[in-house]
Amino acid sequence: MQVTVFESDDRLGGKLRTSPFAGHPGIDEGPDAFLARLPWGTALATALGLPLVSPQAGRAAVWWDALHPIPEGLLLGMPTEVMALARSRLLSWPGKLRAATEPLRRRTSLEPDSLGGFVRARFGSEIHLRLVDPLVGSIYAADTDHFSLAAVPQINDLATKGRSVLITGRKMPKPPANAGPVFYAPRDGMGALALATAAAATAAGAELRTNTPVQAVERDGKGWRVDGEHFAAVLLAAPAAAAGRLLRQPVPAAATTLAAIPSADVAMVTIALDAGDWPRGLIGMSGYLVPKPKQRLVTAVSFGSQKWSHWELPSSVVLRVSLGRDGLAVLHLSDEQLLAAAIDEVGHHLGLTLQPQHARVSRWPGAFPQYRPHHAAHVATAEQALPAGLAIAGASYHGIGVPACIRSAQQAAAALHTFLQTVAD
Ligand SMILES: Cc1cc2nc3c(=O)[nH]c(=O)nc-3n(C[C@H](O)[C@H](O)[C@H](O)COP(=O)(O)OP(=O)(O)OC[C@H]3O[C@@H](n4cnc5c(N)ncnc54)[C@H](O)[C@@H]3O)c2cc1C
Repeated sequence: MQVTVFESDDRLGGKLRTSPFAGHPGIDEGPDAFLARLPWGTALATALGLPLVSPQAGRAAVWWDALHPIPEGLLLGMPTEVMALARSRLLSWPGKLRAATEPLRRRTSLEPDSLGGFVRARFGSEIHLRLVDPLVGSIYAADTDHFSLAAVPQINDLATKGRSVLITGRKMPKPPANAGPVFYAPRDGMGALALATAAAATAAGAELRTNTPVQAVERDGKGWRVDGEHFAAVLLAAPAAAAGRLLRQPVPAAATTLAAIPSADVAMVTIALDAGDWPRGLIGMSGYLVPKPKQRLVTAVSFGSQKWSHWELPSSVVLRVSLGRDGLAVLHLSDEQLLAAAIDEVGHHLGLTLQPQHARVSRWPGAFPQYRPHHAAHVATAEQALPAGLAIAGASYHGIGVPACIRSAQQAAAALHTFLQTVAD
């Protein structure tokens, strides 16, 4: 079977991009890791023979006028027990008491499918705004008031398995002490995953064309015509907005639904600071999150060279500063403005005057699809409208993280493979 990949960019990998920075051969500009709990990232990296590393233990914090360590016993910010909350200075006493009354509250309707609405109903607005929204929001560049509860499986599990999150959480099995790392990353950066996949595809006979944006997909007898070339089957692995555009003519019913899936832009500013200027009190921390009420443009800061041993530099500390999210536009700003905002805001948070030795701005238009309430039903409607021989895959549909994208592509490819065998028989 002949496979041809059309890639509009001049490089392969999409959001997986690793490039030299501050004398280091490869610091990620986009994702820096994938979840170990989901098997598809680890399995692909292992099959490709990529050595994997995991983050060094380090506490994360929330910045609420000062850095507050994230309390223990939370699941994506959701309390599963209250004792750790009681000790935290991130929450006020009324906020803690409101959270502690969660088991007494009546069942919350899941029908609105709003993550923010659910968390507020169960625990009150402090837990929502100071813990869950920053944690989930920083993973998906989301405003959780407009994000699907069902799309965050760990929290959805807590929501669906019982009336009270705290009671359900208490009954859930705790991960064993030797559970292994939460995240893995290829030692040479996430870009290595894309490059090794591309090399394996080429070795297996695939043709990979960069600088080749697909303009049109049309019906062609029993198959498809992609920019004038005939193919027996097509997998659209572009973001939903692009897939929606390409399907407008051949499958309008799916196109409308896909085009309506919004996305959030973000920028990633990477800076290297003189290690001599780095406060001792921050050594060993992995970074911090900035909750919505305290945000200007910065939403999260990762202390990259403390989190990852393979990013350590002899005399510098590397920070990755995330700016922008759903409802907080940043890409109208120039690189200079984004860098200035990162320096100013992080300096303010940490009480430092930052003087970066090196800086880099990575712009990510359409970075994160936003799963609005009832996202899964909309995607199911679009997928049902697709004829056999045409499939969609990627972050816009069944999970935003890298492992979910790998699974989505593998499932779509398997379905097309089965279809092609049926046609050939
Ligand atoms: C800053 C940042 C940090 C992140 N951090 C993490 C993390 O730590 N862990 C994690 O698991 N996930 C993370 N994510 C999310 C994850 O990286 C993405 O959701 C995932 O990589 C998206 O993969 P994809 O294949 O769906 O889309 P993409 O990577 O966007 O790939 C789509 C490809 O389609 C191409 N394309 C578009 N239109 C056309 C066309 N018409 N013709 C031809 N080609 C076209 C694009 O050029 C692109 O290469 C992060 C994302 C960003 C932006």
